[in-house]
Amino acid sequence: MYLRPFDPWKSKLCTCPPKYSINPYTGCVHGCLYCYASSYIKNFFHLREKSNIIECLKREIKKIPPNSLISLCNTSDPYPPVEIIKKTTRKCLEILKENNMKVLIITKSDILLRDIDLLKEMHSCVTVTITTLKHYKKLEPNAPTPIQRLRVLDSLSKEGISTGIRLDPIIPMLNEEEIETILMAAKESGVKHVIASTFKPRWDSWRRISLAFPDIALKIEKLYFKEGTKLANAWYLPENLRKEFMIRVSDICRKLSLTFSSCREGFPEFNSSPSCDGSHLIPDKSSSQEQVSILF
Ligand code: SF4
Repeated sequence: MYLRPFDPWKSKLCTCPPKYSINPYTGCVHGCLYCYASSYIKNFFHLREKSNIIECLKREIKKIPPNSLISLCNTSDPYPPVEIIKKTTRKCLEILKENNMKVLIITKSDILLRDIDLLKEMHSCVTVTITTLKHYKKLEPNAPTPIQRLRVLDSLSKEGISTGIRLDPIIPMLNEEEIETILMAAKESGVKHVIASTFKPRWDSWRRISLAFPDIALKIEKLYFKEGTKLANAWYLPENLRKEFMIRVSDICRKLSLTFSSCREGFPEFNSSPSCDGSHLIPDKSSSQEQVSILF
């Protein structure tokens, strides 16, 4: 099955509303050093197409209620360069549109701009991940630049499509001093909502970060591996430090009149929006979202 309930393991730290998830591609070529999906998907940085995804989606979509929330994607980017030729994500969107679904897109790519015509006609919102304006060449070597991503947000906002940013991950001493600048740039690009999360390394992402930023890794390894906590194969910063980061982002958001939520940090009390994932920004159509829950 390609269309699956999101978070089937029901992580205690996940505050997402009930939703489905689909990844048109397996793997991702952006090569972000902090990527966690590479720890559980083999050859993750080698992109593969999914066989028969369009035919399967056409069948699977009939099994869920109309107006369900579908997130695209949670473990890869729906707009890799090959999407320009393949148009697999676009074809998926067309099916979702025909079946009246709500769509939440998460991307770093400006290829999405090609699909503005569809997104405008759908019940959609887009969140773009921006983690740094300075270190992107090392940190996200093959992804579109943050300036391109800000342009995406600006164009979408001008077309009336609701947008948010994912400030995810915040890495101590690496991008933390950029938090305010990033949020101000996002605000100028018409963003309404901010989702923040701290870096939660697994062994492979830690190795990549340590190789690219050895001085910083040396300074923060104690925070993770001596003072932090291990949860489901990932290391977390000490709770007080994670809380400090979330308060910092939330305070800036308040000043900038942006709504805020944290992702998998365990501090939902700081959230100032009805949903943590930005799905509240999707124009509402009916109340049938509650029907999704019967399938979980
Ligand atoms: S864009 Fe997302 S899925 Fe792709 S490499 Fe970066 S973090 Fe991983």
